[in-house]
Amino acid sequence: MKTVVVGAGPVGALAALYAAVRGHDVEIYELRPDIRDPSTAPLNTKSINLALSERGINSLRKTGLSDLADAVLADTVPMHGRMIHVRKHGEYVREAQQYDAHGRDLLAMDRTQLNRALIDHLHAMPNVKFFFKHKLIGVDFKKKSAWFENRTEKKDLLTQGPEFKLTFDLLIGADGAHSAVRNHLMKVVPMTYQQEYIDKLWCQFGVPTTSDGDFRIPPNYLHIWPADESMFIAIPNTDKTFTSTLFMSKEGFEELEASGKVVEYFSKNFPAVVPDLITEEDLKKQFVNNEHLPLISIKCTPYHYSDAGVIVGDAAHAMVPFYGQGMNAGLEDVRVLFDILDKYPSDRTRALNEYTKERTPDAQTINDLALGNYREMASDVKKPLYLLRKWVEETLYVHLPSLGWATQYSRVTFSNMRYSEVYQASQRQARILNIAVGLGLATVAGSTLLFAGNGGLHRAKMGVLRGICLAAQGAQRVIQG
Ligand code: FAD
Repeated sequence: MKTVVVGAGPVGALAALYAAVRGHDVEIYELRPDIRDPSTAPLNTKSINLALSERGINSLRKTGLSDLADAVLADTVPMHGRMIHVRKHGEYVREAQQYDAHGRDLLAMDRTQLNRALIDHLHAMPNVKFFFKHKLIGVDFKKKSAWFENRTEKKDLLTQGPEFKLTFDLLIGADGAHSAVRNHLMKVVPMTYQQEYIDKLWCQFGVPTTSDGDFRIPPNYLHIWPADESMFIAIPNTDKTFTSTLFMSKEGFEELEASGKVVEYFSKNFPAVVPDLITEEDLKKQFVNNEHLPLISIKCTPYHYSDAGVIVGDAAHAMVPFYGQGMNAGLEDVRVLFDILDKYPSDRTRALNEYTKERTPDAQTINDLALGNYREMASDVKKPLYLLRKWVEETLYVHLPSLGWATQYSRVTFSNMRYSEVYQASQRQARILNIAVGLGLATVAGSTLLFAGNGGLHRAKMGVLRGICLAAQGAQRVIQG
């Protein structure tokens, strides 16, 4: 069985590993040079640090290579929650918001490090061949043939000349948001395709260590400076630096470029970033020198053609980064795909069909949730109503486990529940909560009258919660029954 994987990003590399441990003859074709080559590595890929969570970790573990997940996890910084940086009544304050009522963490890591760990494992496998600096230029899914351009100086026996053709049993397209495999797939399947560039660009900033080599701000958080129309975030790195990202509209970037008032903008909207994280000079320099990049959101379906080809990762569902799920979802694609392929060992057409059917609603759900989460990160995290709802949901989650209650965030981030089921569960909870809040409010009035006079604010709060719990249980019974 010859499996050709196009793209050796995190998702393609994991797909190649899943195929290789099943004994396929795997060939990986990657446009860029090998990221492990020290002479080219810095030019290879933008160094993005990102949040790895349960779905990604689970997919790494399910390779069956026991040391892989451990090697990856060793190179991460745990983030217990968000730290919100705001001005309240003119004063700069930092507020920590835990991610999970049960104390589970997100893991900050460098995407290139993850990619390197996967590629290292692949290199050690005898049934895997790598072809770096090779660009996919054509696919005929019906004839199971693909064409590549060899961009290396060396032309080996297999790849004589700059362009060559090969055949495959299965082709896995993991070639990112601007996927060439997807473009060729569209020619043979009636693909529904939707793409959107949102009105936000992103620009990265490096934040150095302090002069004595330490983190400049508390390391175990994803730091957010929420400013509604723009947002600045900082994620820790294992070398005690941070990588920060500014998200802002295209117009906003253009205005700052034209006016040159980037320091003034930061001072007004992102308190203490200058000079606590970055000097004025460095901020100005990085704003000019670092790229201002667009954010794309892509939905399409189906993901496959017959038994010949399938797309995974950003090639199938590029999403905006506000839920921290793009790569996690891509790694999960691989686990789901191979689970289904294992279920139908002698009927790949049926397996790929089932994969598209199962994965489409899940990928499209997380795509939508990611689009919606900008508002939560850039605005809602500052609002008392958001914090109240978070508190109620988390308290129900901890104190009434029999209700099966959990926040949408924790289900997306800390579970392997299908994204579409997460969404349905959250909608059901929202309906229950709406009824419960109505009934709970009656309890608020009663509890406040009873206890507030005695200074029993905490008891009043617990009374409210008890009211909401009872109401939630009742409402849940009504809705489910
Ligand atoms: P890619 O990483 O894009 O890899 C595709 C590979 O295919 C590349 O190596 C490319 O060179 C190769 N290729 C392309 N065309 C060809 C061709 N014609 N022939 C051969 N090879 C080709 N995700 C998270 O889970 N958590 C986060 O916190 C997070 N934060 C993010 C922050 C930002 C600012 C951004 C932009 C993204 C973030 N993501 C995050 C998303 C994550 O980076 C992507 O979802 C992930 O990198 C997708 O992996 P992939 O392997 O599918 O695609």
